[in-house]
Amino acid sequence: PDTLRDLPSWTPDPVELADLELLLTGAYRPLTGFLGSFDAAMVIAGGRLADGTPWPVPVTLTVPKDLTVHERLVLQDPEGVPLAVLRVTETWQDPTTSDWRLAGPLEPLRAPAHGPFHRLRRRPDEVAAELPEGPVLAVATREPLHRKQLGQVRQLADKLGATVLVMPLLGGDHDESLVRALLAVRRDLPDGARIVPVPLPSRPAADPERDLRLRSHVAAAYGATHLMGAESAEEGEGDAEGAGTAIPVARPEPWAYDADVEVWRPVARIEPDHVQAELTQAELEDLLDRGEPIPEWFTPPAVAAELAVARPPKLRRGLTVFFTGLSGSGKSTVARGLADALVERGGRTVSLLDGDVVRRLLSAGLTFSKADRDLNIRRIGYVAAEITRHGGVAICAPIAPYAATRAEVRRMVQAAGDFVLVHVATPLEECERRDRKGLYAKARAGLIPEFTGVSDPYEEPDDADLVLDTSRLTPEEAVGRVLDLLVAGGWVRP
Ligand code: ADP
Repeated sequence: PDTLRDLPSWTPDPVELADLELLLTGAYRPLTGFLGSFDAAMVIAGGRLADGTPWPVPVTLTVPKDLTVHERLVLQDPEGVPLAVLRVTETWQDPTTSDWRLAGPLEPLRAPAHGPFHRLRRRPDEVAAELPEGPVLAVATREPLHRKQLGQVRQLADKLGATVLVMPLLGGDHDESLVRALLAVRRDLPDGARIVPVPLPSRPAADPERDLRLRSHVAAAYGATHLMGAESAEEGEGDAEGAGTAIPVARPEPWAYDADVEVWRPVARIEPDHVQAELTQAELEDLLDRGEPIPEWFTPPAVAAELAVARPPKLRRGLTVFFTGLSGSGKSTVARGLADALVERGGRTVSLLDGDVVRRLLSAGLTFSKADRDLNIRRIGYVAAEITRHGGVAICAPIAPYAATRAEVRRMVQAAGDFVLVHVATPLEECERRDRKGLYAKARAGLIPEFTGVSDPYEEPDDADLVLDTSRLTPEEAVGRVLDLLVAGGWVRP
């Protein structure tokens, strides 16, 4: 038989890795491996596996086409640590995305040792075995619990006579803060409450109803008998069969802040004119953006502190300013002017990732083929995202002609902080007239193949925050426009 070393290996994407972990620990029981085409189609269409067992979302594994010829495949984490062997029982092509998929059972190799708070993670059977007899209310959440939700959890647990199992769902952009915010309210939860993080990222393709069902299956595997749902004025538990949840959904009654006695309690028990309007998500974000304190009536200070970690005040939040445009449009000139202006103002650390400088260092050796151009932009995006994650300002000035690659950079950066796109839309004729580096002349003479604007396309952005035409502005004016935008957006002091 082949040894592990002889098998091909593959690193699944983050959602698939989370699925892999939940498959291996039994949290996805009765599933034991990635789904084949028939099961996946049945799940998508009707929320059931081919044999009729309720299952809410397709748990599938996508691989490059060249990996579809093997019988066994090692699945590894992003560092290359082997986690499991997939025994392939079906190779199939997704009819809508044309992605190649592999189905089959898994042989575990080792438990994944990655991710925040992995020491708090427990196997479902371990947790279930340690829970006391009787009802268990799961609170499976991607958001911190504020005073209102804490009151609702206490009320529901009391009503059901249940032990509380809080399951922070990992896989978002701020996992560590989420877990810390939930650990911070441990004393506000009923005695004996447990906190067990579970890797269950939200799935872009799953609607809230399917997501609720998936959470119910995972919560049931961990020993829960009830899953806390959204608040509802209607009495009673969700119908387990009808809703397709593995365990009943317990919905708390609506609560509000009683401004008269200064406590949160069920709306039904508050005099209507004493009901204080809740902070909306937009109001909360606005307070965080401006660095204003979150009121204590709304959430405990330790939770507020974690909210500010996940969403720092804009004046301190990491930011990438990404200039895109034709060669000679003025990106470097304006980017350098902006970097100087920000450094002069102080209070911000600035890194300039200029197109030509990046190509000499970070991307030395890359050509101007589409693949290499994309790789160059991805490298810039990666570095910019890291700078942004650490609260700095990254200013990038590559040509970045392709919309899909710019979108990828936007996604990477926005997982870490904020992203501002500036389209330097100087007309081609003006760029060519300037021809500062003599490149257009060479491109016209056929000496440079695939030159943006001449023999390779520039895809105009439709998502730019600012459009500058430097044929109508002085460099100082152009820098001023960008600064005005950053001040108006709250990233830079007026
Ligand atoms: P890119 O980085 O987009 O290739 P550069 O900034 O290197 O462009 O070159 C732009 C050229 O245009 C420079 O020689 C610059 O002096 C000139 N230029 C003229 N007017 C402007 C303006 N308003 N803003 C920026 N550059 C300008």
